[in-house]
Parts: sequence; C-alpha cells; structure tokens
Amino acid sequence: MNLFNIPRFLLKASLKCPSLISRHSITATRSITSDKKDEDMFISDIPNPFEAKPRVCIACKYKIPLDYKNPRLLSQFISSYTGFVYDKHITGLCDAQQKRLITAVKTARMFGYLSWYLKPKKYLRDPKLFDPFAPSRPNPH
Ligand SMILES: [Zn+2]
Repeated sequence: MNLFNIPRFLLKASLKCPSLISRHSITATRSITSDKKDEDMFISDIPNPFEAKPRVCIACKYKIPLDYKNPRLLSQFISSYTGFVYDKHITGLCDAQQKRLITAVKTARMFGYLSWYLKPKKYLRDPKLFDPFAPSRPNPH
C-alpha cells in the first residue's frame, strides 16, 4: 500500500476508518496497472505453432473409395502372412473408413475377388513339395 498516492483528506479520514484507504488505493492501482498491462499483454490472435494438426486418413485425404471390386487396393490392407485385415493403428484409417474396409474385404471374399483360403501360421515354414504353378511330376516308369 503506497501512502504517497492517497490524498491527504483521505489519510486523515483513514485514521478513523482504515477501510476507506484500502478501497481507494486498490482502485488507483487497478487503473494504473490496467493501462500498462495492455502494452505488455501477449497477442492472442496469433495461432499456436505447437498445436497438433488434426489427423486425416489417407482414404479421406485423397477421397479413395474402398470398393469391393478393387481387390488390389484391398489387398494392401490385408496381411499376406495371416490374411487378417490390419488394425487401424497400422492402416492409419479413421473409424468410418476402417469399417468400410472390413465390409469391402468381406464382400470381395464373398464374390471371389479375394481368397478365403489362409494358410495357418504353423504351416508357413513347411518345405514346398511341388511347384503350385506347375504341378507335374516326372513319370518314374
Ligand atoms: Zn478418414
């Protein structure tokens, strides 16, 4: 509390009533500080440079239709090892596109665009008994 800013007549009155001096000094300091604060206040119109940008999935960004008639596109989201559709933390698709992908893969499998047959994991390391693209054996006789 600065006693120099207070007028003398209030100083004399404050000896009788101390609440008067405190009220006057508070209003005086508020008006002084409010003028200074306006100059020193940060500018709120500047956008935050550290704000995270909203994530947009690749299907929404390029407006790619996940259609069951496009098995080459759908096969990119299917594991060639297990045959399962990758989860959305791997594909990076949003919820709506991931649901569309799963239904498109199911529909494509029903219509025969994608294969249902998946080799179980435990048989993946088995040796090849024959070439599946040329299944022929030499005649022993
Ligand atoms: Zn999306």
